[in-house]
Amino acid sequence: MGKLNGKVALITGGNSGIGLATAKLFVAEGAKAVITGRNEVTLQEAVKELGASNAVAVQADASVPTSSEQAVAAAIERFGRLDIVFANAGISGYTPAGGSELSLFEEILKVNVTGAFFTVQAALPHLNAGASIIFTSSVLAEAGGPGYAAYAASKGAVNSLARVLVSELSPRGIRVNVVSPGATLTPIWGQSTPEGEAKLEAALSRGIPLQRLGKPEEIAAAVLFLASDDASFVQGANLGVDGGAGSSPMGAPIYRKN
Ligand code: NAP
Repeated sequence: MGKLNGKVALITGGNSGIGLATAKLFVAEGAKAVITGRNEVTLQEAVKELGASNAVAVQADASVPTSSEQAVAAAIERFGRLDIVFANAGISGYTPAGGSELSLFEEILKVNVTGAFFTVQAALPHLNAGASIIFTSSVLAEAGGPGYAAYAASKGAVNSLARVLVSELSPRGIRVNVVSPGATLTPIWGQSTPEGEAKLEAALSRGIPLQRLGKPEEIAAAVLFLASDDASFVQGANLGVDGGAGSSPMGAPIYRKN
């Protein structure tokens, strides 16, 4: 018996990386999935992988907040209910002080913050007691990483709005939690070759106590926990899945003498 038997999940950014790994795990655990993204080709490839009877794709741009209403409507039309919302779609971008374009700065906030909030708002009329909302934040919300003001601010905002939703939705029995990945090997890093990925991993691992990047499947496992009834009393948690980077950065190889 799967941990999500009979449940229907909306996963934004479900055609790539962490979202796709989560969609696969959710389906393997008995859920039906509605996935969103902008890229119609990878959306259709993902549905093929997930199985057309288990998943439906909706092309939806998270920077157009009303687009999530279509995704919610598709969940209801196709599967008749909605139990889990994984507000995961996100973009990164380099926005150093003194060298940033307003358009990129605003785009990051629009997709990562406004898009996440309005995804939840669109879903709310259909969520019942026992439903679970999970946001994807990041260790960079707290790390002060140079060059990432917009991205860090966007994930800090996700953490804040999740806390507000905990308060607002607890009376309805809806759980709201956050997963905060550390550096995870997904297409967001823009590497297209194994050599590029190995170089990236070698560089970033120096700042991670467990000395490696995360895998999208490892983030998905944490999201499954938060989505499932195993986490029935977990409310307002922010679960770091980061090899120790968030809690104990001084344990990383870059700081160690041995
Ligand atoms: P990814 O493979 O690039 O996935 C990003 C997903 O978001 C894609 O499915 C993408 O689909 C979707 N997306 C981006 N902009 C969108 C928009 N405007 N409208 C709708 N969908 C949009 O990267 P990922 O690492 O899995 O990222 C997933 C989440 O994890 C993001 O919120 C990211 O900030 C967070 N995160 C990642 C890491 C990491 O190291 N990988 C660490 C911490 C947090 P389309 O391109 O088709 O739109």
